[in-house]
Amino acid sequence: MLLIGSHVSFTSKEQLVGSVKEAISYGANSFMFYTGAPQNTKRCKIDYDLTVEARNILYENNIELKNIIVHAPYIINLANNEKKESYLFAINFLKEEIKRVGMLGIEKLVLHPGSYVNLDLDTGIDNVINALNEVITPNQNVKICIETMAGKGSEICFDIKHIKRIINGVKHSEKLGVCLDTCHLNDAGYDMSKFDEFLDEFDKLIGIDKIKCVHVNDSKNSIGSHKDRHENIGYGTIGFDALINVIYNKRLCDVPKILETPYVSFNDKQRVLPPYKFEIDMIKNKKFNKDLYEDIRKYYERLK
Ligand code: FE
Ligand code: FE
Ligand code: ZN
Repeated sequence: MLLIGSHVSFTSKEQLVGSVKEAISYGANSFMFYTGAPQNTKRCKIDYDLTVEARNILYENNIELKNIIVHAPYIINLANNEKKESYLFAINFLKEEIKRVGMLGIEKLVLHPGSYVNLDLDTGIDNVINALNEVITPNQNVKICIETMAGKGSEICFDIKHIKRIINGVKHSEKLGVCLDTCHLNDAGYDMSKFDEFLDEFDKLIGIDKIKCVHVNDSKNSIGSHKDRHENIGYGTIGFDALINVIYNKRLCDVPKILETPYVSFNDKQRVLPPYKFEIDMIKNKKFNKDLYEDIRKYYERLK
């Protein structure tokens, strides 16, 4: 079965209930959210009653907890330890985040491995390994899924060999998984039109069973650009057919596919609307919608 969803919001007031409802409004059977703002580490307490309510809604809509993903905030950087307090803060934040994710009953936490900044690549990788060895406990239910990165600035893990090294260095590596991001892979230099070749290479090095999530995004930039700017499905340099082949790849049929494509703006950015309902439709129909932006605008116009 196709497991498809998108990034959705998570507010302190509605928590998982709000996230599930948003996902359902897009026709999704999977989704991903940040437990607070992605760019900061302010987090609310997980509310037990809201979590129970959300689980009922999930159950009624045949959405399985194992297909829901949490994304860790992208400001936590485990690759750099120049400022000891920040490095320790990141480690402690991640420990707390794993607890929150566990309280929600969710099993997958996606993590950007970080940037080495003024250090070097090897030190950056070692810092991530040391941090994860500090963070991971053998009895946690949550898997940390390291995301493939575009290699913007000093980001690590733009090469799957870096991820392999992290997995090799972490003691409880059974608690690690990998999240593929098609935009990042493209920008890192992997050709998404030859996805099966990529999967063969990944399988040989790491093992396909480690892939726990796929971020499906088109890219605004050319292959190998190291930029990381996401584009709507079929409107970028990867293209609709290549992305459909990723989404429907038989070797990844049990892995949730999550859209992180940009919101669409209208009237000089006065209105910004989510594209996900329409992108999910395109994906389900396997047919490119050249009127995507117009359809989004009309739909939300009618809802007003
Ligand atoms: Fe990410
Ligand atoms: Fe991503
Ligand atoms: Zn990205």
